Amino acid sequence: MDQEKRQSIARAERAASTVLRDHGVHGTPINAVKLAEALGYDVYQATFKDGAISGGVNFQKNGGRIYLNQNDSPTRQRFTLAHEIGHCVLHRDKHENGILERIDMFRDPENHSQEEVEANAFAANLLMPEQLVREMWKRWGSTEILADIFKVSLSAMSYRLYNLHLKGDW
Ligand SMILES: [Zn+2]
Repeated sequence: MDQEKRQSIARAERAASTVLRDHGVHGTPINAVKLAEALGYDVYQATFKDGAISGGVNFQKNGGRIYLNQNDSPTRQRFTLAHEIGHCVLHRDKHENGILERIDMFRDPENHSQEEVEANAFAANLLMPEQLVREMWKRWGSTEILADIFKVSLSAMSYRLYNLHLKGDW
C-alpha cells in the first residue's frame, strides 16, 4: 500500500475517534444509532429488491436517512451503519444523490475504491476503538468474547485484532 493510501486510512481512523469524543459516545458496545442521530441521520431498516444491497444513505439538507438491510444479521447491520456514518463524515460532499451500498464491502477490501477502504477503516475504529480493544484483549484474550463485547462479527473482530498486531492471523 502506498503512503498516500496509508495516510488517508489514518485520517479516517482519526475522524472516527474525533466523532466519538465530540459526541461523548464511549464504553461498549458503541451506540452507533445514537451517534448517527447526533450527527443528524435517522436510521431505518429496509428491504431491497436486490438482496446484495446492504444499505445506503440518502442525504437531505441537514443530515439525512441511513437505511440498513433488515435481512442482514444484527452485527452486519451495525457494521454497515458505522460504514455509512463514515461516508457521511468523510465523503458527503462527493455524493449529493446519496450512496447505495453493495455487498461485501468488509470481506474484500482489495476490491474496493479508496473511499470504501476509508469508510471501513472508519467503521472499524468507531465500533472497535483501538484503546478499548487493547484493554479488552489484555483482559480477556479471546476473539469470541471481544466480538460479543463490541457487538461485531467474529470476522470483523478477528480482522481488527490482526490489524492492531494483537493476533498473527485472522
Ligand atoms: Zn461504502
